[in-house]
Amino acid sequence: MAEKPKKPETLLTTLGRDPHRYSGVVNTPVFHASTILAESLEEYESRPRRRFDKAEPIYGLLGTPTTFALEEAICELEGGERAVALPSGLAAVTLCFIANASAGGHVLVSDHVYLPSRKFCTDVLSRMGVEVTFYDPMIGGEIEQLIRRNTQLVFAESPGSGTFEVQDVPAIAAAAHAKGVPLALDNSWATPLFFRGLEHGADIVVHAATKYLSGHADVMMGLVVANAEMGRRLVQTSSLLGFHAAPDDCYLTLRGMRSLAPRLRQHEATGLRLATWLEDRAEVARVLHPALPSCPGHDIWKRDFQGAGSLFSFVLDRPYSKQAIAAMLEGYELFGIGSSWGAYQSLMIPFYPEKIWTATSWDAPGLILRVFAGLEHPDDLIADLDAGFERLRTADD
Ligand SMILES: *Cc1c(COP(=O)(O)O)cnc(C)c1O
Repeated sequence: MAEKPKKPETLLTTLGRDPHRYSGVVNTPVFHASTILAESLEEYESRPRRRFDKAEPIYGLLGTPTTFALEEAICELEGGERAVALPSGLAAVTLCFIANASAGGHVLVSDHVYLPSRKFCTDVLSRMGVEVTFYDPMIGGEIEQLIRRNTQLVFAESPGSGTFEVQDVPAIAAAAHAKGVPLALDNSWATPLFFRGLEHGADIVVHAATKYLSGHADVMMGLVVANAEMGRRLVQTSSLLGFHAAPDDCYLTLRGMRSLAPRLRQHEATGLRLATWLEDRAEVARVLHPALPSCPGHDIWKRDFQGAGSLFSFVLDRPYSKQAIAAMLEGYELFGIGSSWGAYQSLMIPFYPEKIWTATSWDAPGLILRVFAGLEHPDDLIADLDAGFERLRTADD
């Protein structure tokens, strides 16, 4: 009888470990290494030929068993054939471009990507002679019209950073593939538990594992997952760039992933509670949360996703003074002001799309605030939000 495929919750407890190989120790230990000794001269001299073919300890830069445990886990969860651990989420993003683009080429990038991903394209890729076109994230299959003869990569991020438009990844993938162009997708918001990027047509899935996967605000980590051929190209490019994810951080990321499923369900429920509560507030003009019908691409979210991340935004009903906004944000007991997201603490920061986007425009009655719902009890978070609106109104009078 064929073995029934295991559910992601179970895989998160089994992947990337082999206790009896390591004296019964449950977690794959942290192996620190630069030098990894060869068994023989012959084995040593054969290393350059096989170094990108499979995950094996050859030199610290290419990873140790700790790195491979993490790579194996994300690879299985995403349904890929090869994964690479990178020193940050941004390094994982830039690797997609560097591995696929070259001088004289062209890339298509969603207008609403994570800002540093965008800056890499405008400030570094362009300098290397790669032309960058930003596209409307809601473009879907129409992206076909933007694909040129020299287009080398389409980059998507769904939902978009800050405004959370859900992209039609299957339609974009179909249009790109029809012209022989690979699609890379930043899947950090959903994780493989809520969206399976490769199954929906992406050729490379990128994760800022700094966020939900590691989950505790103490690790910088990026991951890319692909099929064998693209995967080999990513491994090769990463090692030629000298990218290396530290073994301690690989260990912490995999440790964090063990509890990903229950954390994510809790984040999802809390995020939805806050989002629906915010929808009813007089100070709020709009809530941008993929699981709410008011969010662009909500129908695509319903069609393609298994759940919702707890990062979303809301738009204020009118302009408020800087001082009133500061009073609201600085006075929160639970919501911190800070970059990143995906750990246990809730966060809130302002976001300024009008200063960033070039292919699309942003028109709203007030400031947009990005919320990350952490693992605190939603009642306490709502009380904190409530008091914040009180400060906003009082400080603005
Ligand atoms: C944070 C983030 C990144 C970058 O991850 P770092 O580990 O901070 O470099 C990339 N994409 C998205 C969507 C992110 O939120």
